[in-house]
Amino acid sequence: MDVIHLLPDSVANQIAAGEVIQRPASCLKELVENSLDAGATRVQVIVRDAGRTLLQVIDDGVGMSEMDARLAFERHATSKIREAQDLFSLRTMGFRGEALASICAVAQVEMTTRRAQDETGTLIEIHGSDVVRQEPCSCPVGTNIKVKNLFFNVPVRRKFLKTDQTELRNLLTEFYHIVLVYPKVSFTFVHNDEILMELPAGTEKQRIEAVFGNPKRNVYTSAFVEVHTETEMVAIRGFVVKPENATRKSEQYFFVNGRYMRHPYFQKAVLTAYSGMLPNDYQPSFFIYFDINPEAIDVNIHPTKTEIKFADEQTIFQILMASVREALGKFTLSPTIDFDTRGSLDIPLLTHEPVLQPEIKIDPTYNPFHKRGAVVYPDKPIKQWDTLYEDLRTERPKAEPHRDPLQDILSADDAENCPIWPYGGRYIFVASERGLVLVNQHRAHMTVLYAQFLDQLTHTHGAMQQLLFPEVLSLTPDEMVLVKQMTQDLKAIGFDLEQLSPDSYSIQGVPAQIANQNPIPVLQHIILQVQERGANTQVEWREQIAKALAENGAIPYGKTLTETEMRDLLARLVVLPQFRYTPDGKKIFDLWSDDEISKRF
Ligand code: ADP
Ligand code: MG
Repeated sequence: MDVIHLLPDSVANQIAAGEVIQRPASCLKELVENSLDAGATRVQVIVRDAGRTLLQVIDDGVGMSEMDARLAFERHATSKIREAQDLFSLRTMGFRGEALASICAVAQVEMTTRRAQDETGTLIEIHGSDVVRQEPCSCPVGTNIKVKNLFFNVPVRRKFLKTDQTELRNLLTEFYHIVLVYPKVSFTFVHNDEILMELPAGTEKQRIEAVFGNPKRNVYTSAFVEVHTETEMVAIRGFVVKPENATRKSEQYFFVNGRYMRHPYFQKAVLTAYSGMLPNDYQPSFFIYFDINPEAIDVNIHPTKTEIKFADEQTIFQILMASVREALGKFTLSPTIDFDTRGSLDIPLLTHEPVLQPEIKIDPTYNPFHKRGAVVYPDKPIKQWDTLYEDLRTERPKAEPHRDPLQDILSADDAENCPIWPYGGRYIFVASERGLVLVNQHRAHMTVLYAQFLDQLTHTHGAMQQLLFPEVLSLTPDEMVLVKQMTQDLKAIGFDLEQLSPDSYSIQGVPAQIANQNPIPVLQHIILQVQERGANTQVEWREQIAKALAENGAIPYGKTLTETEMRDLLARLVVLPQFRYTPDGKKIFDLWSDDEISKRF
């Protein structure tokens, strides 16, 4: 008896599906790519239970005819290539004609679709490769496809799926890969009725910012420089992070001809361009887009198509490395002030401290000098300007070999009478007989707050203000772990947190100093700081918490202080042992001596 027989299509499809559709994320990728290939300008992704129960993609693309709607689900049915030769001039994302066949083999699929020239659309329902319904229907132009109960007939695969959190993360990762190359298409992503992403059409730069520009991810386009090179072989454009903005965690993306790709060899080219500019464990973030003649690449290596082979990889390696170097070089020649929204004048170009630009809203009416029930050094009452200097004098004997002229000036007997005035909402000028002292007001205040928060953390006496309406802080799994470890410290400073669910905390109380701010971005900022700057010991992470809170609470640039406020700020600052520098080592004061001033004339 012959033993060989052909497998029925449904079984063959199910086996093949394993290669194309491993998880909800791969299904999402195929569906969204189809929408883009169909010329959609708006794509909505609707997901339930991380794609386990529902994955729906709605587009306004060209739609399908009644016949095509049926054919689309056949293996190797595609409108995108006709002969092998076409493979070498591909500009669409899909081409194998296996995605829909694979998906309908392992799920319950329902699709409605209509072309602009047709009056009625088509509804088709397929369960595990069996067409259970096909009929005319009324629907908008475009395609609306629902994939329900993925792997309903492949229990092993279903069991193989990770937690909802992980699968959701995978879905979002795939989603990012696509949305970053289609900035002109608007996208939404809804999970369990909650809109997770709403991305309007725009430029590449706007898209990157829309996806990553939140305090959680610390990718701001202002932290990047542009890369741009065109050669006969390849055009390279995109954004690479400024060395000073690099962190331990990075977002690294390569795209070729509008498709995400992984390319460890080219990644090495970028890393080489940064060599010597980053601390050991830091990674540069980059978004680099290649445009190359499709004939010079082969995407037909793997069905999931993220590995892409280039014809002349060595040459492209060199071009890429040179263009990133050039971009970074150009940047180091131009002053940082152009990019730094905090307006610092003397940030060293290549600091090893990441310089973050938190986009945290600051209440403009917040006046740090109105003590409004807040505890300011409860055990250290604010001293008077004049008595402060007595302290300084007793602490620092006159015998000191190299006296700091700044100290001399600020501790002079008549310091209190020195004219003092605000400048540009940024600086405080103090005119003494020995020279002009310039103070960076934001840094001064940040340093004062830092010392205060650190003190509260160490002595656990932060004043807490109960919230009338507790806020909910949603966190990723790694953030949850971190926050659990920090709850005691956060409590010490005045945060009352209670775990709500496996991925959220309820914020019941906040430090009195920030009572009038939204606590969510503040906490997100703290988490990010601790994550990015790294903290191994409790002392270190207390420092990071204090720093984050201080950065957040310090007077924003542009706020002009009154004379009392200025004197009060200086009084609080000069009692600190390290009053000349911020906790990040940035300069707070500058002194123009009499000599220097007269030299100018
Ligand atoms: P491929 O994308 O590789 O061609 P698929 O199985 O993903 O294979 O899709 C098969 C065919 O179905 C496509 O070639 C296209 O003609 C049609 N199709 C799929 N999705 C859509 C859509 N959203 N809008 C219009 N046509 C579509
Ligand atoms: Mg496809």
